[in-house]
Amino acid sequence: MGTKPGSWIWMDGAFIPWDKASIHPLSNTVQYGMGVFEGLRSYEKNIFRLHDHTERLFQSAHILNIKIPYSKQDLNQAQIEAVEKNNLPASYIRPMVYYGSEYLGLHASDLKTHVMIAVWDMGDYIPVSSPDEGIKLGVSSHSRIHINSLLCKAKACGHYINSILAYKEAKAAGFDDALMTDAAGCIAEASSSNVFIVKKGVVYTPTDVSILNGITRDTVFSICKELGIQLITKNITRDELYISDEMFVTGTAIEIKAVAEVDGRKIGNGLRGPITKSIQNFYQELIAGRNPTYSSWVTSVPRLND
Ligand code: PMP
Repeated sequence: MGTKPGSWIWMDGAFIPWDKASIHPLSNTVQYGMGVFEGLRSYEKNIFRLHDHTERLFQSAHILNIKIPYSKQDLNQAQIEAVEKNNLPASYIRPMVYYGSEYLGLHASDLKTHVMIAVWDMGDYIPVSSPDEGIKLGVSSHSRIHINSLLCKAKACGHYINSILAYKEAKAAGFDDALMTDAAGCIAEASSSNVFIVKKGVVYTPTDVSILNGITRDTVFSICKELGIQLITKNITRDELYISDEMFVTGTAIEIKAVAEVDGRKIGNGLRGPITKSIQNFYQELIAGRNPTYSSWVTSVPRLND
């Protein structure tokens, strides 16, 4: 849980005090994990890539054949209102689509579909003492969910058992987070972020076969184009990470963070590299809404602009 909870949670169209919000224990989502969610951030005055996150929420629901009883516009507006109502200087926003408890079983039809939006102050997901310091990752014994077992492009509640197992194993071994491999043994992603390496000035990232298609990953694609940095998607092996010049991970919660070590091997000189730094700096301008080319990526929140 974040550093500071919000005061209000939007549930099916009404704001409920944080402590009064509840879900029935026999909700199909509580029982089996059949639900979808998003995670996005608001900064000083605006929400970053609101429309893209809402789009992915609807895509996740479509993949699982869940019908969301609101329009995208309704949920965009509800997220703006949730940020306004909670009035935090910066927040993490968590919309979730979940099933009711009308029927218990795998049938999972004729169930009411609910939506909630919670907001809290998350702060730094993995704090480091200076921006030049990176995080330490370990390759997990848990592989990333297989494309024929679950549907990787959906940000589905139940999928996160995979991430939690990998994350907990990594923490117990003294790492900050886990890296997961795909069924073929290539690097897929971290427990809740996408992976990039830099070698001889070129940026590489795993293909999108078994990863969650990160919106921050997509932002980095645009940043590389703007900065004239070549970016290639390809299969990446574990030892390729060890001998890369720089490495970083991307995600809404973690933003863009340098990686100092993988499995106890230093990446480059063990500090944030110059390409990582220039991509991070560009990202900071984008999330602050200071780059007019990308104004459609920021949604201003009226109350924060008062
Ligand atoms: N992979 C996984 C498994 C995630 O949970 C996340 C966080 N949503 C990401 C990657 C990064 O996605 P995004 O940049 O859209 O936050």
